[in-house]
Amino acid sequence: MKSDLTEEHFSNCLMCNIDLMESQIPYMIEKAFKRGPDGSLMTIFEFAICMDCAQKTQNQLSRESLANIQRYFNERKDLFLRNEELFDKEELEFEQWIDECVLSGEKIGECEEFQVLVTCQGDQMEMGIFPYMISGKEAENMQELLSEKTKDEMDDFMNTHLDLPPELKMLLEDSSTFVLV
Ligand SMILES: [Zn+2]
Repeated sequence: MKSDLTEEHFSNCLMCNIDLMESQIPYMIEKAFKRGPDGSLMTIFEFAICMDCAQKTQNQLSRESLANIQRYFNERKDLFLRNEELFDKEELEFEQWIDECVLSGEKIGECEEFQVLVTCQGDQMEMGIFPYMISGKEAENMQELLSEKTKDEMDDFMNTHLDLPPELKMLLEDSSTFVLV
């Protein structure tokens, strides 16, 4: 999956800056979108993070927050089962995997805001637990499950690593989407 900004593959990890193409280290891409009045999509933020850094970031989050998110997911969707179902139906197109919110089932066309998580290696997208889409509404629900400490840590992450221009920062503050790593 390419960057919407550069229209190239993401070249470096947001945190450690490792070369994602050369190292062939697995990585995750996260993008958040908002739909304009005319239905067009605007990218609020996008980044790639190598799995080592994603793991480190997760390890910093409070156990309680992680457990809450895990429970919330498990109650709504068995991602392993979804994976099997999609492969059984031979639905191997990326668009089919993000066609509806993995938590609520809301269709992507009806989501005013949503975020997409994808795993890749080199220039190849991997189909497994990812990719999936989370609607803005569900992103909001998930944020309510996080401890204040975790929320602060995520804000820090955004401020430290995502160098967003002021207009996108405002858009992000107004939106329900947040960094999920
Ligand atoms: Zn990294």
